Amino acid sequence: EVTANQIAAGEVVERPVNVVKELVENSVDAGAHEVEIEIADGGMTYIRVTDNGSGMTAEDAKMSIIRHATSKISNVDNIYHIASLGFRGEALPSIMSVSRSSITTRRPEDVEGTVIDIKGGVVEDVHAAGTPAGTTVEVRELFYNVPARKKFLKSERTESARINTMVGKLALANPDVAFRLINNGRVVIETPGNGRLLDVVSALYGVKTAGEMLEVKEEGENIFLNGLISKPSLLKSSRQFQTLIINRRVIESSVISKAVDNAYHSLLPKNGYPLLVLSFDVPPESIDVNVHPQKREIKFSDEQMAFRTVYHAVLRTLTSQSD
Ligand code: ADP
Ligand code: MG
Repeated sequence: EVTANQIAAGEVVERPVNVVKELVENSVDAGAHEVEIEIADGGMTYIRVTDNGSGMTAEDAKMSIIRHATSKISNVDNIYHIASLGFRGEALPSIMSVSRSSITTRRPEDVEGTVIDIKGGVVEDVHAAGTPAGTTVEVRELFYNVPARKKFLKSERTESARINTMVGKLALANPDVAFRLINNGRVVIETPGNGRLLDVVSALYGVKTAGEMLEVKEEGENIFLNGLISKPSLLKSSRQFQTLIINRRVIESSVISKAVDNAYHSLLPKNGYPLLVLSFDVPPESIDVNVHPQKREIKFSDEQMAFRTVYHAVLRTLTSQSD
């Protein structure tokens, strides 16, 4: 079982940023309004995610580290009707199998919480403890027992830059959740959690940037799109500042990126990428999130329709609102 988890870990967890994303998505799934992430050494030696979500009973906490023990899916049919972000029941067991970790958790309605210490996927200790409501997952020494995987990690700077970018995207995907990212003891991201996307943009990229954003809105058949795109005066040199969100999940979609590019560049010279946050609400069955184990690249069941919707929305935004 530990071996199976380590193999799964190879797919789910490639580097520290994947751990951060999975843990934060679990916090969001648990209904948290506040999520604090702390990392050290680019997440390679230390990752902590603390939330004020629903917490777990001792039993649930013990179950959570068993593979495919997701509480979010009750039968196979359900896999096409996924409302919550996680559904594989694979992330926690995978992460725990390649690190020294602990889960500290308490439901608001319980008097006592639970602490589970895990080493390389093996439970070392379970005890009751007084702890704030919500859940903290700590992950130490990622890949300590998988040297081959560890070798693929880049410098601390690269790994922490990836985490920075991802936490920013997760904050953009969840404007109603207050995020804080602490990197080597320094607060590097702090968002208000007031539900306003523009306030997240300004927390991440500065008020001046927020003033350069245009609102994108489009309602199609079975697709609702809203977000922000920067005016032509504010272009970035990379796509890193483009965040795509579907049903609150940070995703990648080459079709959507292409639609944005085509629309933007049909009007403007090709000398950069707009800063962009596009959030889609679609019926869960109209997307396939199973394409990638890390749930990054997604496919629309009707990719043409998705392309057209985005293309027209961006075009309309640029022609009607910019000066
Ligand atoms: P999945 O998210 O796909 O269900 P995970 O391995 O990520 O699988 O998590 C396993 C289970 O552990 C979840 O289904 C959930 O019940 C529980 N869990 C994980 N993280 C949290 C959290 N932060 N708060 C409450 N429950 C959690
Ligand atoms: Mg999960």
